[in-house]
Amino acid sequence: MTKNIRIWVECKKCEQSFQLTLDEEFQKKFKEKATYYPYPILFPHKGHWAVIYLDGDFQDRGTIISEIIYKENSNGKKLSKKNSKKQNNKKEED
Ligand SMILES: [Zn+2]
Repeated sequence: MTKNIRIWVECKKCEQSFQLTLDEEFQKKFKEKATYYPYPILFPHKGHWAVIYLDGDFQDRGTIISEIIYKENSNGKKLSKKNSKKQNNKKEED
């Protein structure tokens, strides 16, 4: 039977440490999804995200912070092939 694993993670932006409880379900999911180690998990924290790299033993191998999520189509025009103007067919003159 799998035990819950507790890890401490430091948010370098807030300069706070917080404890994560990795339950059996999380551990199973992590093992299924992780295709390499250390594998990152995303933890939302007060408007930013901690990216926590865990190895196969759920040890913290480093945490980075990001405040930016890139959103597509927030302002820019969509690039769509459908919108390209049809070129007038050149009339072939004999
Ligand atoms: Zn934080």
